[in-house]
Order: sequence, then C-alpha cells, then structure tokens
Amino acid sequence: SGKNKKQNAIQFYSTSLRKASFSAIQIERELRQAIKHQEFELYLQPIIDVKTNHINKAEALLRWHHPKQGLISPEHFITIAEKTGLIINIGEWVIERTCQIAKQISELGVNLKISMNLSPSQVADDNLYNHLTQCIEQTQIDASLLELEITEGVLVDDYIVAEQLLKKVRALGISISVDDFGTGYSSLVYLKKLPLDFLKIDRTFIKEIVTDEHDKAIVRAVIGMAHTLNLCVIAEGVETEEQLSFLVNNACNSVQGFIFSRPIQLQSFITLLQQQNQHK
Ligand code: C2E
Ligand code: MG
Ligand code: MG
Ligand code: MG
Repeated sequence: SGKNKKQNAIQFYSTSLRKASFSAIQIERELRQAIKHQEFELYLQPIIDVKTNHINKAEALLRWHHPKQGLISPEHFITIAEKTGLIINIGEWVIERTCQIAKQISELGVNLKISMNLSPSQVADDNLYNHLTQCIEQTQIDASLLELEITEGVLVDDYIVAEQLLKKVRALGISISVDDFGTGYSSLVYLKKLPLDFLKIDRTFIKEIVTDEHDKAIVRAVIGMAHTLNLCVIAEGVETEEQLSFLVNNACNSVQGFIFSRPIQLQSFITLLQQQNQHK
C-alpha cells in the first residue's frame, strides 16, 4: 500500500545515512539545505517517437547530490519532501530549472518538449500557476515546450481544484500527461472530462508484456481507448527489443526506457540530440 511504501522509503533513507534511528527533522533539515546549497540536479531521459525513431521529448527527473551520500534518486526522498511540505519549494526549483533547460535546448535550434513531474500537493498549491507563468516569462520560452506529468492520485485528492488548474495551464499551451497510468485508484471519468494530451502506461504493465497475456490485453486495451479519446500513448520502462516490437505492432506512439537511454545529465543529453540530428 501507499503507506507501506512511505515507510520503506524512510527506512531505506535512514539506513543509507547509517542512522540508528529515524529522524524526520534531520531529513527535513538536510532537504532544506539541499535547496539552499543547490544540491539538486535534473537528469533528462529521452522519449522516442516510434514512427521516426527519433527523440521527440525528454522527461526531467530529479536527483539529489547529497554531500555525504552521493547521488540519491527521488524514490528515497520525494515521499519525505511531500510529507514535510518541502515538495513545494523543491517543485518550484524543478519548474525554474525545466524552463531554463527548455530554453537552452531551443537555442540549439531543436524543437523539443520537456516534461516534468508534479506531486499532488503542488497541483493543490495556489501559487503553482503564477510560478509557472513567471518562469515562462523570465525565460521567454514558448509554453508549448513544457509538459506536466500528473498521477491519478492528483485527481482523487481534489478533483475540482485539479480540473480548474489543468484547464488554465492547458490554455497557456502546456501539455498534460497522466503518469503511471493504471496504477492509481481514480475513475476513468476524468479521462473524458480533463484536458489531457498523453497517457503514460506504467512500467509494471510493460515489464512482462512479452510473456504475460493479461499485460498484453491491458496494454492493447489502454492504447485503443486512449486513441479513441485522442490521447497519445507513451510506454514507460521499455528495456528490450521484444517489448519494443510488441508496442510498435500495437500502435503505441512513443517509448521511454533503458533500451534507448537511462536518465542522463543535460550535457550528455545535448550530445545525444546532436548525434541524432547529424544522422537524420
Ligand atoms: P516517473 O515519473 O514514473 O519516472 C520514470 C521513472 O522510471 C524514473 O525513475 C526512470 O529512471 C525510471 N525508468 C525509466 N526507464 C526505465 C526502464 O527502462 N527500466 C526501469 N527499471 N526504470 C526506468 P526515477 O528517476 O528514479 O524517478 C522515480 C519517480 O520519482 C518518478 O517516476 C516520479 O514519480 C518521481 N520524481 C522524479 N522527479 C520528480 C520531480 O521533479 N518532482 C516530483 N514531484 N516527482 C519526481
Ligand atoms: Mg514521470
Ligand atoms: Mg511514470
Ligand atoms: Mg513510474
């Protein structure tokens, strides 16, 4: 359950810090300092259009360079950041940085969307919209270069607030995707009511897609439903050629996974883009 996951994350974190006992205050303090000391970085993972076989988007994924522990991935600190409310500050930094990255990539003459992840409490935050528009103004990027990834949990928490925000954000030209689709508890009603652009099928359905008949059926059905609703489908966690062919043969639009690239630093991502454009 969600609660269990949270506890595991905290346990792992405290073990990794070799602490005898868990101290939420300690972690909170370190996360606060992480913002001040600029210990965060956004890695980028390419998303590939299966028709052209080219990168057509990148997902920004948060990393924490802990002064003592080294690189820490989000599964070990996002839950704590959400519990303490620090996710608001961290999320604001993510938005600023994503806009800067989108700007830098657009200056290379490449038209590429960057997607970022939003936690439910960010979607409920009154200041999110203003912060987004400020960052877009400051960097002077085209809002259509941005995409927001929300999970189904956002819609369960406070549907009305989420709907209002998403409509305003979409009116700016920002795209919206539903992340980890199929793992939440929300109703399908929101798929027709909300202004959505992409469905990202969760990696748990892709993992055994080559051998598991149920996963095959689920993925085919989700792709069919999404296309009927005019949504594009991205498969997460694609690691093998066999998984890729299944998805291509079943009209999935884009894929993201280690088969193409892990999340990488901005400079490496730019190199990857430039190599691709040379071979176009
Ligand atoms: P997500 O948004 O579903 O991101 C995809 C995760 O799947 C990433 O993990 C990525 O490294 C991993 N992944 C991609 N391809 C493969 C694959 O082929 N195989 C496997 N095994 N994994 C793959 P990551 O970077 O550790 O992020 C974990 C989660 O943390 C994200 O899941 C997202 O929910 C959250 N997260 C990351 N960055 C942010 C952020 O800036 N803000 C918020 N609120 N949450 C974030
Ligand atoms: Mg995501
Ligand atoms: Mg996901
Ligand atoms: Mg996921």
